[in-house]
Amino acid sequence: MARKVLVLADIRHDKVRNVTFEALSAARKISEGGEVYGALLGKNVSGAADSLAQYGADKVFVVENEALGNYVPDAYAKALETVIKESNPDVVFLAHSAIGRDLAPKVAARLEAAQVSDIIDVQIEGGKLVFTRPIYAGKAFTKNVINEGVVFATIRPNNLPASEPGAGRSANVVNVSVDIPADSLRSFIKEVVKKTTGGVDLSEAKIIVSGGRGVKSADGFKPLQELADTLGAAVGASRGACDAGYCDYALQIGQTGKVVTPDLYIACGISGAIQHLAGMSNSKVIVAINKDPEAPIFKVADYGIVGDLFEVVPVLTEELKKVLA
Ligand code: FAD
Repeated sequence: MARKVLVLADIRHDKVRNVTFEALSAARKISEGGEVYGALLGKNVSGAADSLAQYGADKVFVVENEALGNYVPDAYAKALETVIKESNPDVVFLAHSAIGRDLAPKVAARLEAAQVSDIIDVQIEGGKLVFTRPIYAGKAFTKNVINEGVVFATIRPNNLPASEPGAGRSANVVNVSVDIPADSLRSFIKEVVKKTTGGVDLSEAKIIVSGGRGVKSADGFKPLQELADTLGAAVGASRGACDAGYCDYALQIGQTGKVVTPDLYIACGISGAIQHLAGMSNSKVIVAINKDPEAPIFKVADYGIVGDLFEVVPVLTEELKKVLA
């Protein structure tokens, strides 16, 4: 059955995030010969239309508006609703990011549509879409079948494969005008204060070096940062490390932090509490460095190093520098 699938581009710091391309590739697969649409909402975003086309969008709906410069729920909901009315999709994909998690249920509820959150797979079985999502902090998975109507789904980054971009591919660009009067917005952004944690985007990183309470201080993160720089990795943390004030909460991985699925996760001085595992246990390869051989993190690790992280991490970094030089 041919379907129309709309993918809202997830834009951060003026850059389309990889999860958008993963979503477009999934959209192509489930459209079964139907149409794939991209949506770009924001200020000065139309330049990204080509990249959406390369990953499979046949048509890109662009809403350029001053009110969309930062994420404001009412403004984005109105813009997305307008694009949906214009494009009439069967499925709407958003990233399972801070924006997607807020926006998807809001617009789905307004349109009385179904919504599935945090999906890690979508297949067609017996002509129906089957969405897979983790439950119980990643210990089990549910398969969700939506029998009728429009479906909104948020996609967990780094789980669905992005296809190779088609360099010569182009899309029809449709400019959509949306009136968003300032007095119709119940909230607005006065100022954006950027955190200095910078570096590689944690939720999209292919490699993460993560520190726990075992790093013992903010300075204790320095060898981890050096290892991360050597590997082109992002630095993450357990809540134990964040609570102790060793790093910013923006780095927290776990049930109440970010959920990550990198190719390689290196856990240093992290015990492996269930709440931490909820955020990283689906990583493709897990390496744990811990001086306690009984630490639960070793139960999920593919490779375990029992030792003092302050001895192991610098040696690892030096050896990797030689290999990667
Ligand atoms: P610890 O458990 O104290 O472990 C430190 C580890 O470092 C130990 O295993 C120790 O052997 C090792 N170590 C010490 N020194 C060294 C050294 N020199 N070299 C090598 N190893 C060393 N936690 C999260 O991480 N993310 C969450 O999102 C999260 N959400 C939560 C939500 C709720 C509702 C609750 C109740 C808890 C949550 N937690 C979360 C907290 C979680 O339960 C743990 O307390 C936390 O993960 C522990 O952090 P840790 O592993 O860094 O610290």
